[in-house]
Amino acid sequence: MINHHPSDETLLRQASGSLEAGPRIVVAVHIGGCPACAERIAQFEATGGLFLDEIEPQAMSQDALDRQMARIEVDGERREEHSGPARADIGIRLPAALDGCGVGPWRWIGPGVRWSRVTVPQDDGANVMLLKVAAGRRMPEHTHSGYEYTQVLKGSLYDARGRYGPGDLDEADDEVQHQPVVDESGECICIAALEGQMRLRGFFGRLIQPLLGG
Ligand SMILES: [Zn+2]
Repeated sequence: MINHHPSDETLLRQASGSLEAGPRIVVAVHIGGCPACAERIAQFEATGGLFLDEIEPQAMSQDALDRQMARIEVDGERREEHSGPARADIGIRLPAALDGCGVGPWRWIGPGVRWSRVTVPQDDGANVMLLKVAAGRRMPEHTHSGYEYTQVLKGSLYDARGRYGPGDLDEADDEVQHQPVVDESGECICIAALEGQMRLRGFFGRLIQPLLGG
């Protein structure tokens, strides 16, 4: 049961490709597990497609098409030869939307909190991370300049705005001073991305900020 979804504005930006690479990955993870948002995206893409249809299609010869297909096949083979970026075994099955992303090992950043850096092939500088927080613990305190997107993969957490379980996506702007708490029933694993610069504060901040290069 999914209770928290990306806003229509976010889905529209996802459909149009204008969302930054980091948030795009997190929203893609949500869409991969949420039929309602997948349908919404399809609607937005169809609307966008109407505009594309107005552009005169380029005549393409059969020969050109064959060559195009051959190129795709070769690329496909190449992709299988290289196994892609390194992915550490972090103990959970990662969503398909993360295929092609690098995943680092869990690193300890404080009592009950571990994080893993996710690298996005489209953007080396994307701020994407997996967070694993033990039952009853708080998420690291931080502020940021843009929107923050957090998709719950396992467990649940809550703050003043509500409870977020597996499949839920939390969108928080810089007005939200939040430090969600993980439910007592078990650890919580989520994937988070930030737009703009992040500034972590306090104990976690001093530990993690050098790793983010901020
Ligand atoms: Zn949704």
